[in-house]
Amino acid sequence: MQCRSSKELNEFVMEARKFTQHGKVADYIPALGRADPDDLAIAIHYPDGQCVSAGDIQKTFTLQSISKVISLALVLMDRGFDYVFKRVGMEPTGDPFNSIIKLETVNPARPLNPMINAGALVVTHMIKGASVEEKFQRLLAFVQEMANDSTIGYSSEVAQSEFETAHLNRALAYFLKQHKSLDEDVEELMNLYTKQCAIEMNCLDLARIGMVFAMDGADPLSGKQVIPIDIARICKTFMVTCGMYNASGEFAIKIGIPAKSGVSGGIMGAVPGKFGIGIFGPSLNEQGNSMAGIRLLELLSKNFHLSMF
Ligand code: GLU
Repeated sequence: MQCRSSKELNEFVMEARKFTQHGKVADYIPALGRADPDDLAIAIHYPDGQCVSAGDIQKTFTLQSISKVISLALVLMDRGFDYVFKRVGMEPTGDPFNSIIKLETVNPARPLNPMINAGALVVTHMIKGASVEEKFQRLLAFVQEMANDSTIGYSSEVAQSEFETAHLNRALAYFLKQHKSLDEDVEELMNLYTKQCAIEMNCLDLARIGMVFAMDGADPLSGKQVIPIDIARICKTFMVTCGMYNASGEFAIKIGIPAKSGVSGGIMGAVPGKFGIGIFGPSLNEQGNSMAGIRLLELLSKNFHLSMF
């Protein structure tokens, strides 16, 4: 995808890059620990096809938790509202993404929302397909369509690294299986989930996907409604209420853009009716959000009055 460099965005990147030194890269998935903490990139994709960018835009990264919004959209299209929300809730938890506590104390069989790992595992297990491979290929094709990039694949190195170390996610899955929320083999689900999280792209692709969510699921460039409007609306609502982990409230107040982050340092933003944003900055703050990425979004939101509230 062609993207023009923007002087204004370059200035924002220079300003935000100062924050990279205050965070640290995720290393609980060993392969993510090799990221360069100083990397920072942003792209903005407009519905008319224009794209502006700044920073290390050639760098690729894995979607990690950003993929949870996309799998949710696919599963809602596959199964419908009632089927999905019987099995996963709609409420933010205020807990870290991988916490198990509310599963036990609130509802063991229905994780509180699809953005925490417990909820995302239930969602991924609802993707339709006869095998892990078929389910993954459907999800990947959906991602490629939104990004308009058929070369997007996944990092087998990151997927393997997470598969080998996903002890907590296995624990969540076994807990859910005990309570009949999952009927799939846990190892097969881990295989699918770690591949989903390892889908790899650059921030230009991510901005284009954000643009589709921003435009209520429509791709104005292909003329296709890729996601039904009501499903795109549900996804954006989750991005606001739980997209930025247990910092979503503060993010909504200070920035006010539907966004979803991942532990690789990616953030996808969808400014309703206006444009999509893709950010990559692997140095994370305590909640797991890109340190400099948040600063970049703050600068964008303040300078261009982007808060939706
Ligand atoms: N693959 C990661 C996990 O489940 C995703 C976490 C994230 O990006 O928040 O641990």
